[in-house]
Amino acid sequence: MKLYNLKNNSEKVNFETAVKLGLGQQQGLFFPVDLPIIPPSELSKILKMDFITRSTEILSKFISNEISKEVLHKHVKKAFSFAKPLKVDINKKISCFELFHGPTLAFKDFGARFMAQMILAFSKENESFTILTATSGDTGAAVAHAFYGMKNIRVIILYPKGKISTLQEQLFCTLGKNIKTISINGSFDDCQKLVKKAFDDKKLKELIGLNSANSINISRLLAQICYYFEAFSLLSEEQRKKLVIAVPCGNFGNLTAGLLAKSLGLPIKSFIACTNANDTVPRFLNNGKWDPQKTVSTISNAMDISRPNNWTRIKELFRRKKWNLKKLRFGSVSDDITKESIKELFQLNYVSEPHAAIAYRLLYDQLKKDEFGLFLGTAHPSKFKNTVEKILKKEISLPPELKKWNSLPLLSYNINPDFNKLKEFLLEK
Ligand SMILES: *Cc1c(COP(=O)(O)O)cnc(C)c1O
Repeated sequence: MKLYNLKNNSEKVNFETAVKLGLGQQQGLFFPVDLPIIPPSELSKILKMDFITRSTEILSKFISNEISKEVLHKHVKKAFSFAKPLKVDINKKISCFELFHGPTLAFKDFGARFMAQMILAFSKENESFTILTATSGDTGAAVAHAFYGMKNIRVIILYPKGKISTLQEQLFCTLGKNIKTISINGSFDDCQKLVKKAFDDKKLKELIGLNSANSINISRLLAQICYYFEAFSLLSEEQRKKLVIAVPCGNFGNLTAGLLAKSLGLPIKSFIACTNANDTVPRFLNNGKWDPQKTVSTISNAMDISRPNNWTRIKELFRRKKWNLKKLRFGSVSDDITKESIKELFQLNYVSEPHAAIAYRLLYDQLKKDEFGLFLGTAHPSKFKNTVEKILKKEISLPPELKKWNSLPLLSYNINPDFNKLKEFLLEK
C-alpha cells in the first residue's frame, strides 16, 4: 500500500514506513493513494465469513503487497484474540454495537493490538522503538496492554492529569516494565501538541526511534474498519438497506474507519458524527468555519478533544470519493442531556456510559421512519463506574479485568506541558 502525506503530497511511503513513522513531515497524516473497492458479489461472500477470516480479507485489500495473506491471518488472529463485538438490541429500530469486550474494555483494543502486531511483523532484529502517545483515557490502556513486555519497545503515554477516570488511569499507569506514563498538567490537546512537537524534532526522532500509537497511526484505522463489516453481517436484509451508524467522536479515528468501510463498498446509508460540548466539527459542518475553542471537561472525557487529528483524513476521503460533506449527519450533546440519556437507556434495560449514550441520543433524535440505527458502544460502563453510579443510583460491578488493577500503586511521573521537560524525559528514562 502506498500512502501520501496530507500536508506534503510529495512525501510517499509504504505501509511499513507509515506504521513505523506514525506521522509524516510537518506532522502530516498519511492517507492511502489507492482506495480499494470490494465488488458487491465479493461483498456478500465476505459478509458470510467468520470475523478473523473476513478481517484478513479486508485488510489484505490494502496491504497484501507487503504482508502475505497467510502471515496477515496469523497476526489478525493474535490481535483480535478476544471476545467479538456484540450487537445488543435496544428496541426494534435501534441496537448498540458493543466494541468493548477486549482486554482493556474499550474499542481501542482493536487498533492498538493490531498495530502492535504490525510493529512486530516489520521490526528487524535489534531495531528499537519508542512509542509516544497521548491519551484522553482509553488509548493509554489499550496501547500499554498491547505492547506490554514486548522486547525493544518502550512505550511512553501522556495523559491530562485529573481528566481521566480513576479506573482508566489504574489500568495503564500501574504496569511498569516497558510502559512509562506521564500525567500532564493540562488538557488532552496539550498532550497531543507535545507528541506532535516531539515528532517535529528530527534529531530526537532518530535518536530514540520515535513512533506514535495514536489514531494517527494508519494501522489502527485499518483494524477498525473490520468491525463495521462485522456489525453489518449481523443485520437482517431489511436493516441493511437503511443503516445509520452513530459514532461517538473524539479524535475522529473511529468515524474515519467507518467511512473507509463505506468507501470499500459496505453500503452504510449514513453516519452521525457525535460529539460532546467539544463541538468543533459540528460547528464546522454547520457554518463552514474551523474554529476550535478551548477544550472543556465533560463526563464523556475520551471525547474531550477540540482539535481532532483525523478530521483532515475525513475531508480528504470525501474529496477523493466525491461525497458531499453535507450528507454527513452530526450533533453535539451536553452533559445534562447525556445523563438523561443514560437514564433513558436504563429504562430500556440497558446500562450504558456517557460516550455511547451521546451516540444513542443523536441516533434516536435523528433516525428517520424507515431507517435502522446502530450506535457504537465504545467502552464498558464499568470504566466510568463513578459517573454511571451517580446517575443511575445503582452499583455497577467491576469485571475481573478491572478488579486486578484496582489496588496497584500508580507509577506515573508528572510534568507541565513543556516540551523541553518531555524531551529530557525521553532522552533519560
Ligand atoms: C477514544 C474514545 C472515543 C473517541 O474515539 P475517536 O476514534 O478518537 O473519535 C469515544 N469513546 C470512547 C469510550 C473512547 O475511548
